[in-house]
Amino acid sequence: MGSVILVGAGPGDPGLLTQKGRQAIENAQVVVYDRLVSPAILSLIPKDAEKINVGKESSNHLVPQEEINRILLRKAQEDKRVVRLKGGDPFLFGRGGEELELLEAAGIPFQVVPGVTSALSVPAYAGIPVTHRDFCSSVHIITGHARAGAELSIDFDALKRTGGTLVFLMGVTSLPKICKGLLDAGMAPDMPAAVVERGTLPRQRKLVSTLERLPLEAEKAGVKSPAIIVVGKVCSLSNRFDWFDCLSLKGKTVVVTRPEDRSGTLTQRLRELGAEAVDYPCIRTVAREENPELEEAIGNLSRYRCLVFTSPAGPEIFFRRLRAAGRDARALSGLTLAAIGPKTAKALEKHGVTADLVPETYDSDHLAKALEAVEGPVLLCRASRGSTALPEMLERKGIPFADVPIYDTVYTAPDPQKVDALLGEKLLVTFTSASTVRGFVESLPGRDLKNVIGCCIGKQTEAEAKKYGLTTVVSQEATMESLMETIKEVRL
Ligand code: SAH
Repeated sequence: MGSVILVGAGPGDPGLLTQKGRQAIENAQVVVYDRLVSPAILSLIPKDAEKINVGKESSNHLVPQEEINRILLRKAQEDKRVVRLKGGDPFLFGRGGEELELLEAAGIPFQVVPGVTSALSVPAYAGIPVTHRDFCSSVHIITGHARAGAELSIDFDALKRTGGTLVFLMGVTSLPKICKGLLDAGMAPDMPAAVVERGTLPRQRKLVSTLERLPLEAEKAGVKSPAIIVVGKVCSLSNRFDWFDCLSLKGKTVVVTRPEDRSGTLTQRLRELGAEAVDYPCIRTVAREENPELEEAIGNLSRYRCLVFTSPAGPEIFFRRLRAAGRDARALSGLTLAAIGPKTAKALEKHGVTADLVPETYDSDHLAKALEAVEGPVLLCRASRGSTALPEMLERKGIPFADVPIYDTVYTAPDPQKVDALLGEKLLVTFTSASTVRGFVESLPGRDLKNVIGCCIGKQTEAEAKKYGLTTVVSQEATMESLMETIKEVRL
């Protein structure tokens, strides 16, 4: 029998999705989701799962609640594992209860995975602790939304009497009425009050003011939904505890062009530092299935003195082929193993062997230098169309070598719409190889790329970006750490 899991996706920062929520999404066959769920969380949905968007903003045609309830029921009756993904916490102004009623009546099994609610987390990202012993002893969460055609039904006198922090959701349109209601109930005009727009997201904006002035200031600033209104003395702490706006990459948008399977950690680290990181994989490495050259080399490994890998993908593919040939790491005994950098060395270690040689600077020029000392035939296992620095040096030195392509770099042609909307402002784009530069530029034909600042991992990558006329910065070392430092230093 099918089932439904109601999952809270959190307020926006994808890091605030719970582990249980993530598991549910990864195991789903159908995911029914809302407008406020972030793209990074939607990207966890398995490729073969059905995705149903019931909160399309563009068409302004929200799927009515009864229809959503029926979709959940129908999909569960089709024996599917359904996840209903909702912003924040599903039971806090999320209609989660309504969605369970039909399921319960039909005897469909369901579970609820609570989420981090915006009501508490958005203030936290704005430096506002919703309670503090010096200021209040309660917090109240209120909807500022009035049912169609009806007036706001909020008991302002009661709220004022609590003396607690007041958090209003869905209150942007009613902000003037809310503030007036509280003032009329006798709350002090200089009571600290704040509005936080797009909380926990890279473009979070906050405005801290007083109850009296907040509506006008919010109007001037053009505050839009989704936003949260906080009223209470705790708002006076907001500037002192302002941690999120102070993150080193806050306000920067960074496009990550690495292959999807390798982009995860870079994207995550950028987000942790407050950047808006956009995954835009421009290349993919594809191992060569039929590879007689590699088979030949593996059959004759004893002819070589040195085996060279120039990316972490190299050892992966090499060892897979080695095992397919009925051999293992012992076949490498006596060979000097060279890796272009620490990640590639680590990939070797996974297979129980250690790199003898890693150049001080992680690029092919320096690898070529380091290999000058090697005597005897060298086997290069790397991408087809790799850098020419290595073979040129080996030729010059008269060192015999075989250059065996073990994978191809293919361009993935990502959806240019993901970047189009960003090109109007200064935009950082990470390039971790010359092929990512080519893939990026070719995915955006006819666009003006003057706002793009290419953050390049090494000299050769930078040279490629310059060929296309891009503005560039280059990391000191060819490592992700160094690239991160470079991104931090860019002045926009
Ligand atoms: N179930 C959700 C709330 C749904 S009501 C939760 O627990 O968070 C939608 C309202 O939530 C919005 O109108 C806004 O007031 C608030 N909200 C949700 N995400 C927000 C965000 N990232 N920043 C500011 N407010 C947000």
